[in-house]
Amino acid sequence: MPSNRLIVIDDEPSSSATIGRIARGCGYDPIFTTDADDFRSRTLSWNPTVIVMDLAMPEMDGGQLMEWLALQGCKAHILIVSGHDLARLREAEETGRALGLKIAGSLQKPLHLELLRTVFREIYEAAGVLSAEDVSKALNNGEFSLAYQPLVDLKGGAVIGFEALSRWNHPTRGAIPPATFIPTLETNEAMNGFTLHVLRMALDDMRRWNGATNFGVSINVSAANCGTMGLDEVVPAECIEKGIDIRRLTLEITETAVMFETARVDVCLRRLHALGAQVSIDDFGTGHSSLVKLHELPFSELKIDRKFVANCASDHQSSVLVQAMTGLAHSLNKRVVAEGVETRETMDRLRAWNCDICQGFFIGGPMPPEDVSQWLNQHSAIAASR
Ligand code: C2E
Ligand code: MG
Ligand code: MG
Repeated sequence: MPSNRLIVIDDEPSSSATIGRIARGCGYDPIFTTDADDFRSRTLSWNPTVIVMDLAMPEMDGGQLMEWLALQGCKAHILIVSGHDLARLREAEETGRALGLKIAGSLQKPLHLELLRTVFREIYEAAGVLSAEDVSKALNNGEFSLAYQPLVDLKGGAVIGFEALSRWNHPTRGAIPPATFIPTLETNEAMNGFTLHVLRMALDDMRRWNGATNFGVSINVSAANCGTMGLDEVVPAECIEKGIDIRRLTLEITETAVMFETARVDVCLRRLHALGAQVSIDDFGTGHSSLVKLHELPFSELKIDRKFVANCASDHQSSVLVQAMTGLAHSLNKRVVAEGVETRETMDRLRAWNCDICQGFFIGGPMPPEDVSQWLNQHSAIAASR
């Protein structure tokens, strides 16, 4: 789970919107609520790292809320915002600290935006949230690597490619999963340098494997890469330089990014697709696809989000949705990939529903590049013995 989760509880929508905007600019992923019950349930399920709370709310006051947080053993950094006078704010801070909560401070409404930004940055540092600058430094220090997860043809069982997934081997914090740093990067220019690094590492690995195999490799890209990075120029140029056929490369972009982004994404994907690169719509089913847009988009495959795939053998609703998404993709003449296949039963169902490709822990988890050829040997031995 990313470490930049921030929840705002405030019954004034305009104040929540301002806090959200500033928080996002500082690298947080904010959610909002006006209701104490909703706050409690989201705090328990989502476990925010930062809480921004108003002191005066219709059904509960800030003191009661802090008592509840203390009872839960809350470790989040708490920022109090309120229209009360400064003395009342200090008193609330003292109460929170006496309860053992991590009170980051308090701010009076109307909010002074620069102060809010400063407090958010301070909390960010204290909470050890990873910033875009940290990623840039890590890129220079060579702290990233790729793990490759197999993609297997459901009909014949052949391996058709691997998805390259980023891994950050942090010198003091150990392995950091992509969900912790990708959302921070998404809103930052550093995303371009990061994607270029991923692309180069993947092409280098493909070159190293050459001769042994000529399967495809998928890399994940962000919508921002289509604009400021000029992905449609960088990818063909890098492929030529590394001597890799661009047709072996798949660019995975999330459904949400594709549906909400500008014409630039459309132009970029169209150009890459025309040059022979495959385009995959990742995490399909979690965004807001418009059928018109889907019809117009230049893409090669739909990748059904693992949320639907995981339970499709046991849950009726998931099963209906996976079959509907498969039918939709096929009627548009696109391939369907199911991610998150964890059991044989799921794989058998997907095969029966004519899904084309599957990926998941049941077939093989992400592995370092040096393990790929050994895994391929084992897999072909298992496939031959079936
Ligand atoms: P994704 O592209 O949808 O990748 C699939 C994620 O599902 C991976 O998580 C993978 O390890 C995990 N997974 C695969 N099979 C199973 C399974 O059977 N069960 C379960 N529960 N999970 C499975 P990972 O590596 O933590 O990556 C998370 C997300 O981070 C990726 O989701 C992708 O959106 C993003 N990401 C990873 N590397 C990069 C990158 O280089 N660039 C960008 N822009 N995003 C990346
Ligand atoms: Mg992906
Ligand atoms: Mg996905």
